[in-house]
Amino acid sequence: MPEAALATGLAFVLGLLIGSFLNVCIYRWPRDLSVVAPRSHCPTCEKPIAWYDNIPVLSYVMLGGRGRCCGKRISFRYPLVELLTAGFFAWIVWQLGLTLGAAKFCVLVAMLIALMFTDLEELILPDEFTLGGWLVGLAFSPFVLVPDITAHAVLSVFGIQFSDRWMSVAESLCGALLPAGTLWLGGWLFEKFRHKEGLGLGDVKMMAMVGAFLGVRGALLTLITGSLAGSLIGIVYIKATKQDMGSYQLPFGTFLAAAAIFAAMAGPKVIEWYSALL
Ligand SMILES: [Zn+2]
Repeated sequence: MPEAALATGLAFVLGLLIGSFLNVCIYRWPRDLSVVAPRSHCPTCEKPIAWYDNIPVLSYVMLGGRGRCCGKRISFRYPLVELLTAGFFAWIVWQLGLTLGAAKFCVLVAMLIALMFTDLEELILPDEFTLGGWLVGLAFSPFVLVPDITAHAVLSVFGIQFSDRWMSVAESLCGALLPAGTLWLGGWLFEKFRHKEGLGLGDVKMMAMVGAFLGVRGALLTLITGSLAGSLIGIVYIKATKQDMGSYQLPFGTFLAAAAIFAAMAGPKVIEWYSALL
């Protein structure tokens, strides 16, 4: 197993670097800033950050969680995002090896980690990840087959048969349209009858991205677990911090993104278990 261990180690290091880039996206995209230029600045005092103070996780530990420039606290989100990304990349490559399938899940999880934190911090789900991610998921679908049967079931009613690759593209499209469309309809009805906004369009676009990667069943699993976790934890949080139930804005996208990571990692097992119950 030395090759597998080496590949896993490489995936971990790559995950640290990608996580570091995600931190830049999490800060800049909700503010409509470029992620290419200028170079990294301290978000507090705006002084440029030297490369040796910008090494994933390590610099945070060496600096004791404070900026060298102004001594202000560096958000714990920086090392957290780097470690989360590295941990998931290592886990995925350990499970799937250096394959295109592993690449697909690493790309998906990286975008979901970023979305978790942009929604938590800014209540924004940037189009770069949601709409961009939807296209990436669709682009992967002919090469890494989407594990679903919805398009297959619908098309076979009309006696239509595609090759595996094209069927996978059809599953990806169904996965992008059906659960996101249901969520959009639910939000629209809520707004019609309760006369207040129930959920943002960002959540709908993110669900389209998740469905393009995971298919209809994976996206439904995401919706169900994300909504359950969101409402449970949301209510506990509102009660515990004595927030106003009517005006508090739950970062629903954060819960959906976490649920999508769960669906990507454990989804096939959960779906198998649930199908066996029926
Ligand atoms: Zn500073």
